[in-house]
Amino acid sequence: AQELNNTYAELKASNETIRAQAEAMQELSLRDELTGLHNRRYFNQQFRLMHHQAIRYQDSLALALGDIDNFKQINDRFSHHIGDAVLKQVAVLMQKEIREADVLARYGGEEFVILMAHTDKRQAEGLIDRIRAKVEAWPWHQLASELHVTISFGISDKLDSDLGHSMLVEADNRLYQAKDLGRNRVCV
Ligand code: GH3
Ligand code: MG
Ligand code: MG
Repeated sequence: AQELNNTYAELKASNETIRAQAEAMQELSLRDELTGLHNRRYFNQQFRLMHHQAIRYQDSLALALGDIDNFKQINDRFSHHIGDAVLKQVAVLMQKEIREADVLARYGGEEFVILMAHTDKRQAEGLIDRIRAKVEAWPWHQLASELHVTISFGISDKLDSDLGHSMLVEADNRLYQAKDLGRNRVCV
């Protein structure tokens, strides 16, 4: 009986180890390695859910797409290493501004996405413009002298029954407009 007990205890322990490892793997698969933010896969999961709920409960939902301005030049002029440091610092500044219920993720290379529950595009504009101003005002010369960094955003709160497609398209169009109008701005 003692032997059986020992075997049972060992099995239970290894089971728990496997479960903890699986959870750690799952968490890793949803994070961006460089910035520590959530990644696009996590965003897609959350977006599907939050978009569905917003429609179902007739609640507002806003989405902001952000893209660092002239990032290619930053890499070329200051090095890829400085470019990476810029991405990390922008992530920190964004993380500080968003609320607990918001979803912030690295969407692509130098692109970020913020999902804001119970928020319409005008309310979102306030929060997002604060982020834009914080990025502009950060002492970038601490990373490299003469380094300046700005970011542009497009915002949408368009809720159609299309799994969020039109919201993403509209935010992307507004982002394109922000770039067109000279960058370092938020278009709604
Ligand atoms: P715009 O103002 O129109 O957004 O211009 P841009 O130069 O930011 O846009 P573009 O899309 O031409 O350049 C994005 C660059 O981002 C190109 C790519 O090499 C760089 N990039 C993407 N991912 C990373 C990364 O993880 N680290 C670094 N250092 N650079 C990256
Ligand atoms: Mg880009
Ligand atoms: Mg860019």
